[in-house]
Amino acid sequence: MALDTADAPDQLLGEGDIPPVHEVNAAGASPFLLTSDHYGRVLPHALGDLGVAASELTRHIAWDIGIAGVAERLAGMLDAHLVAQRYSRLVIDCNRPPGVASSIPVISEATAIPRNEGLPDREREARRREIFDPYHHRIDAVIDDRVQAKRPTVLVSLHSFTPVYAGVARPWHIGALYNRDTVLPQLLLKHLRAEGDLVVGDNEPYAVGDLTDYTIPVHGEARGLVNTGIEIRQDLIADQSGQQQWAERLARIFTEIEVELHAERLV
Ligand SMILES: [Zn+2]
Repeated sequence: MALDTADAPDQLLGEGDIPPVHEVNAAGASPFLLTSDHYGRVLPHALGDLGVAASELTRHIAWDIGIAGVAERLAGMLDAHLVAQRYSRLVIDCNRPPGVASSIPVISEATAIPRNEGLPDREREARRREIFDPYHHRIDAVIDDRVQAKRPTVLVSLHSFTPVYAGVARPWHIGALYNRDTVLPQLLLKHLRAEGDLVVGDNEPYAVGDLTDYTIPVHGEARGLVNTGIEIRQDLIADQSGQQQWAERLARIFTEIEVELHAERLV
């Protein structure tokens, strides 16, 4: 009977498991609020290795390679608040609406995730309750506090993409990803193109959508915040010097964009 499970919900995270939410520079003064849905690739102890080879668990299917180093540095350079999620997207993807197939994938690119196969609802719920919800509730609360304090908030959702997906090479160095925002992605694209040395993706390698994304539709669009997603190609930020260079480049660009948003009275 359903009542039994309600009385004793499955616990996913236990002793030795770290909290899902990671924050940097929470008192940062910048209008930019940075998020990183695929920051980490930690697995809860209870899930073992998900039935997946160790060599697969460091690939892009498990997390956004390199983005943690960029996000941390960028938060520091901009004096911006970063809210990030440490568990692997193979446990639950924090940028998918819960319930869609890719939320708890049984296959990612060409890799099967056996531990996600035939998952009982209560286990599915536990992943949501203990990883997805705390992360998104925290972003919600941060935005609430900023609104309350009458502080401007511009949401920037940071991601990285694999240079080759399913055998197809991707030419872009960086992309601006968006759906309903008509301001920030266009400004960002203008600045990225002006760099002169970049192949810039306009909603490439993919566009933001309500069924394929969560953070931008829910925290950006639904709350009326100026917002954009950013995707950086993973081979460019695989090491610390690449992460530093890209953080410096983005910090410079976002500092210029802040002036433009200010002139438009958007921050
Ligand atoms: Zn991502």
